[in-house]
Amino acid sequence: MILIVDCDNTLYPASTNLMALNDAGIASYLTGVMGVSVEQAEGMRIGYLRKYGTTLAGLVAEQKVDPDEFLDYVHSYEVSPILSADPVLREFLCGLKMPRVVLTSANRAHVEKVARALGVLDCIDAIFDLKAVDYLGKPHPHAYETVLAAYPGERAVFVDDRFRNFPPARALNMVNVWVDEGYRPPPGDIAPALNVFYDEARQLAGSASEVVDFTIHTIDELPAIWDGVVARVNGR
Ligand SMILES: [Mg+2]
Repeated sequence: MILIVDCDNTLYPASTNLMALNDAGIASYLTGVMGVSVEQAEGMRIGYLRKYGTTLAGLVAEQKVDPDEFLDYVHSYEVSPILSADPVLREFLCGLKMPRVVLTSANRAHVEKVARALGVLDCIDAIFDLKAVDYLGKPHPHAYETVLAAYPGERAVFVDDRFRNFPPARALNMVNVWVDEGYRPPPGDIAPALNVFYDEARQLAGSASEVVDFTIHTIDELPAIWDGVVARVNGR
């Protein structure tokens, strides 16, 4: 058995609003590096999110942007002013007797920064970032299959905050834990493009019972349901 956990808005609460810095980095890349107007940038992001799922996927497909350069730029902010040590998460992760894997569409450096700030970097066995899954991030099946291929024969628990990432995990017989804090950034504190992202969960939540096994508000609730999660894995 292995634990596969997402990084952003999963290892730490969405209500930290750390993703506002990500958002600012993406906007800055479009306007500062690519030189498009603020209005054009918003339009591009909304279009790419709808068509490709992420801004980066659209930039790679249509603008020939180098994904590593983009991810380095977007994740260049410091996380330590916002995230602090999470002793509950540390005790849980470090005590788990199974491989603990982070699967993310960010880059490795970002995951390491986040995990270090939370005090759990040494409790993580492997990081599969976007590059490690050949830039075919969740919900592309290749992302999940790449992780499973590294742990042959193991069944997996999959923990994530984005609902759209669960159907492919279920198709691979993973037990799904949805971290859904129900957080919505304050109006005016978020780029219009990101409303596409935040509306997604609301639109999809109706089908949650079909692909989600457990729902928790934050990762710190995972220890309390863990015995049930393990039982579900063993019962599959
Ligand atoms: Mg996430």
